[in-house]
Formats: sequence, C-alpha cells, structure tokens
Amino acid sequence: MNTIDKQKIADSIRAIPDYPKPDIIFRDITTLIGNAEVFNGVIEILKNRYMDKKIDFIAGIEARGFIFGSALAFAMGVGFVPIRKKGKLPFTTVSEKYSLEYGFDEVEMHIDAFREVKNPKVVLVDDLIATGGTAEASVKLIESMGAECVEAAFIINLKGLQGEKKLLSHTKVFSILDYEGK
Ligand code: AMP
Repeated sequence: MNTIDKQKIADSIRAIPDYPKPDIIFRDITTLIGNAEVFNGVIEILKNRYMDKKIDFIAGIEARGFIFGSALAFAMGVGFVPIRKKGKLPFTTVSEKYSLEYGFDEVEMHIDAFREVKNPKVVLVDDLIATGGTAEASVKLIESMGAECVEAAFIINLKGLQGEKKLLSHTKVFSILDYEGK
C-alpha cells in the first residue's frame, strides 16, 4: 500500500525558472529529500512496485539517481550499481556515448558491476527523465553486460520532451509524477 499522496510529493519539489539557462525550469529535488515523510513515501512507492519482481540490483544514474537508487536498494535488501559520467570510476569500465543538444556525453559502469549473478534483473533509477538520452545510454550499458533492465523508474517525467518514447524501445518506464510540459 502506498500511503503518500502524489500532490504532497509534487508540492515538495521546488521549481527554479531559468536554471541553469534561460527557458529551463529546473526541478530541484533537494526539497523533497529534505522532507522525511515525502522521501520515505517515494522510496515506499518504488519498493512496493519492485519488491516481488526478483530484482537483483538497483542501478542509479549520477548524481541524483544515487540518492533515490541507493535508498531503494537498501530498502529492498539488494545491491546498488552506480552509473557515472566518464572518468569517475576507478576500475575497468564499459561506456556508452549519447548525444546532447551540442556534442555528446558518456556514461560508464564497472565491468564487474553485476558480479557473479547470472542474468541479473536490474531496475534503473534517476530523479527525472527529460529527453531520455542519459537513461537510454544507461539501459544500453546495463544490457551490454548481459543483464535485463526490467524497468526504468523516475520521480518526474517531463512528458513534453518525449524521453519516455525514446526509452520504451529498450525497457518499460515508470514515473511517479508526469509533467505535461518541459
Ligand atoms: P535527459 O538525458 O535529457 O533525459 O536528462 C536527464 C538528466 O538531466 C537527469 O539526470 C536529470 O537529473 C537532469 N535534468 C534534465 N532536465 C532537468 C530539469 N528540468 N530539472 C532537473 N534536472 C534535469
């Protein structure tokens, strides 16, 4: 049973107009995670959704995906795998490039992230999906290691940016809050 009201979650997220550049509304989740009731409620929703799905790992995208992803992994009693921006992980990595508005970026994961688990089942977590580029590259990384990405989960989906559509050809998508604009 999910006990927290979605409106309460939405109300806890601060919108910062024109950050980091004009026309972007930055969705600041520091105000959500600073509210114990809402933070717990969000993790509870995700835990209830995945608890009986035989999940082996939660993978979180740097940096805000680490906050929700590691709390969820702890709550579910499973391991956590960090997906980081290029050059941050110390051991041998696999990497995946993705396009940005100008140029490209790259995400990486440790080559032994899923250890000895055969055909691991993974849930990918980030705070927000916008264009979906970061999440798409992350799903490709997970699957390149022989794992199954069961679903990608977000607190916020900016539906106007169509990221969900991009991701649906790779995995299922779940979001707690859907915002129609960008
Ligand atoms: P994208 O690859 O376009 O889906 O961008 C997703 C990543 O960028 C996530 O890790 C988000 O945390 C961050 N991001 C993109 N747009 C916003 C926004 N409006 N507010 C907060 N974070 C954002």
